[in-house]
Amino acid sequence: MEDMVSRIMLKPKSASPHCRHCSAELDLPFADLGETPIANDFIAAEDLHCIEPRYPLRAFVCRNCRLVQLEDFVRADSVFRADYAYQSSMSSSWLAHAQHYVEDMIEALKLGSHSRVIEIASNDGYLLQYFKVAGIPVTGIEPAASVAKIAREQRGIPTIETFFGENEALNLRETIGPADLIAANNVLAHVPDINDFVAGFRILLKPNGIATFEFPHLLNLMKLGQFDTIYHEHFSYLSLTALERIFRKAGLRVFDAKELPTHGGSLRLFVCPSEAALAETDALKGIRGKEKKASLDTDAPYLAFAEKPRSTKTALLALLGSLKAKGKTIAAYGAPAKGNTLLNYCGIGTDIIDFTVDRAPSKQGRFLPGSHIPIYGPEAIAARKPDFVLILPWNLVSEITNDLAFIRTWGGRFILPMPSPHLLEEAFYAN
Ligand SMILES: [Zn+2]
Repeated sequence: MEDMVSRIMLKPKSASPHCRHCSAELDLPFADLGETPIANDFIAAEDLHCIEPRYPLRAFVCRNCRLVQLEDFVRADSVFRADYAYQSSMSSSWLAHAQHYVEDMIEALKLGSHSRVIEIASNDGYLLQYFKVAGIPVTGIEPAASVAKIAREQRGIPTIETFFGENEALNLRETIGPADLIAANNVLAHVPDINDFVAGFRILLKPNGIATFEFPHLLNLMKLGQFDTIYHEHFSYLSLTALERIFRKAGLRVFDAKELPTHGGSLRLFVCPSEAALAETDALKGIRGKEKKASLDTDAPYLAFAEKPRSTKTALLALLGSLKAKGKTIAAYGAPAKGNTLLNYCGIGTDIIDFTVDRAPSKQGRFLPGSHIPIYGPEAIAARKPDFVLILPWNLVSEITNDLAFIRTWGGRFILPMPSPHLLEEAFYAN
């Protein structure tokens, strides 16, 4: 409750928002998703009667540097609370992705017991555990106490509980020394002060060290209409166009890039100090070309995107409404942040979705913020046999349809909300 009170006191920083990178005024809207609660604020049963704070969820694009960003509204310290529920190791496909990354980097950089690997936002140690097994010294940096504790106590990963930025980088350089590799997977978008964060990498890298950044690619968000990936914890929506400028200002340079299937289409950027002798790769030039072709350096594609949330909402409500009209029961799968944006923007609650399930014990027994849909353990699907299951973490569709293949025994079917709401074809999960 203390948190709720402090949040009600929060106000926007200024009447007209400014770019978090270049300070230009933000007046070009990208998506207006109304007012929603914080996406990871799961509610305990005893708090269901409390007033739930809601905040504007509005994204803009900067006309000057093309950084797509949320209007500055919620403080980082109130988003990443001690009971912050997301745990990276809960997804088996994400673990496999992490393991591949570790194998690739050990090989490419010839990492060994003489090296130092640091991960920013190291969560529960899901990634560093694989470097540790290979005998490479690791340090995790993680502001959320609950997952940092799991990393230390269950995986033996040295983890420092702090946010990362210039000051922390200076401290770390003194205490543990500079790094051969700094990994930053799915954290760049979550950082409120992107300039301070990126500057820390320049300080903490060895002259020949590299940093890798993974983030959902804005180009895919736009092409596939993934507006549900917009939520309060996610301050920036990143393109190579915007990031090359941000890194340059910090004395860093992108030299390679790779497209990844994770999170509906991500980029991994390989970054080095500006003066390091690493040549630009053709892969990087290719992605630059794709963004140029999509005109990400102009206003037009951002203005066109603004209509997408409205059309998805209309289509999803029509689909779910037609099923309810036939007396069908509908459950959801998962309790990801993106699911809360989707449900709250579309105004979907327990009138349409009976319950959702999630593998994370920290979420079970609680309720989704805003929609107040109850969250059970995965066994509830088999016990209650819903006619339809709406998959909220659509980026994990293969894993989920595989795990829940048994719903076909009672004629159950899956619904996917993105890129536009649809029933999964029988053929998709028949093999
Ligand atoms: Zn800007």
